[in-house]
Amino acid sequence: MCEEKSAADLLKEKLCMNPQNAAQILQDDEIEKADMFCEGYKKFLSQCKTEREATAFAEAAAKKAGFVPFSSSKKYKAGDRIYTINRGKAIILAVFGKRNLREGVKIVASHIDAPRLDLKPVPLYEDSDLALLKTHYYGGIKKYQWTAIPLSLHGVMILKNGKSLQVSIGEKESEPKFVITDLLPHLGAEQAKRTLSQGIKGEELNILIGSRPFRSDKGSDLVKLNVLKLLNDKYGIIEEDFLSAELELVPAFGASDIGFDRSMIGAYGHDDRVCAYPSLIAALECKAPEVTVVTVLTDKEETGSDGNTGLNSSYLKYFIEDLAKQEGLEGRDILSRSQCLSADVNAAFDPTFPSVHEKMNASYLNKGIVVTKYTGSRGKSGTSDASAEFMGKVRKLFDDAGIIWQVGELGKVDEGGGGTVAQYIANLNVDVVDVGVAVLSMHSPYEVVSKLDVYMAYKAFCAFAE
Ligand code: MN
Ligand code: MN
Repeated sequence: MCEEKSAADLLKEKLCMNPQNAAQILQDDEIEKADMFCEGYKKFLSQCKTEREATAFAEAAAKKAGFVPFSSSKKYKAGDRIYTINRGKAIILAVFGKRNLREGVKIVASHIDAPRLDLKPVPLYEDSDLALLKTHYYGGIKKYQWTAIPLSLHGVMILKNGKSLQVSIGEKESEPKFVITDLLPHLGAEQAKRTLSQGIKGEELNILIGSRPFRSDKGSDLVKLNVLKLLNDKYGIIEEDFLSAELELVPAFGASDIGFDRSMIGAYGHDDRVCAYPSLIAALECKAPEVTVVTVLTDKEETGSDGNTGLNSSYLKYFIEDLAKQEGLEGRDILSRSQCLSADVNAAFDPTFPSVHEKMNASYLNKGIVVTKYTGSRGKSGTSDASAEFMGKVRKLFDDAGIIWQVGELGKVDEGGGGTVAQYIANLNVDVVDVGVAVLSMHSPYEVVSKLDVYMAYKAFCAFAE
């Protein structure tokens, strides 16, 4: 029996918003494509745990796709593909469009740094016959989540002789891992009285790295000495070399499918590689855009975008100024006509913790790419807040391209908040809005996203570039 739709139902369909689950809208072949796309994403996640590794991946992929290093003295024509790297930790790619740069560029900006534990400049010590490393956490973390999980060590050391040593230990099956110990519950009664944020304190995030002493007659700190000897034998480093190093501890596990239906991906660092990867692939596949497309994978977002590899510095502005010069323009001539998708994640509604969200304006897994008009906190402080006009443009663009999208606000009013790179690019007089993927357990060692949302991000960036 087929029921007729009531007048109210028909009117609702016409007038009311009704965001739907992408899995109910997309055709089977489209869902298959999304799952395939995410296989590539999972490899990227498992391979690139740090901003340096993500930059190296992007450079290699760009070269393969015909991108060449940018030269500010060269004049480029439509279809040319260039990239430039900032200190090994951020990369800008551009595909030149048919229209003059005077008409502006289209920027997609995401970040490739993620919350983690950095080693202190003097990290190595021994206590009670155990060798340990002191850390200072990077970005916003819940510290208790980082204990008792396998960690790997990544980064770079500049040795006394100036040689650069690339470090990656703990990713391969055969390699050792590292760990932060936690108290057993039997003796944890006092610890349990601490607040959750103090459950593990910053100075308790100490990495266990050795327990066997150097075998000699006598002496102190022989476990530490033995570790240093091993490091010296293998890499030629001495203790002082930690001073000129950027060493980062990250979860040692790779990306996996989540759920019986394999509809989600669990991994470290979705924020914001879940936007960086789709925007990179969209850039690589972009052949002859109307308007020049600029893709930025930046560093330092998680600590507020300051520093010369963050977007609160001038490196993007300088790049645009270099583009402008070849056309006899000023940087501001381009920037003032430009549009930007600030590609960053939003917090997905979590049914276990519903109270922090306002349901109507929260983002949800599987409802497509999230458009976030503003971030910030306490009365929209620290956000650029996209204009109605630019929201209108992005809405039309996504609708016309068949992109499944939703709106998102980062939590209830006055519940907390956060920021992205949007404001720094908007401050260059660019029209900017945040778009990205909804994430569960954001900033934890194991974040979760939906595969269909990842794919929609890719489709959205492609549509923006065209
Ligand atoms: Mn982010
Ligand atoms: Mn973040």
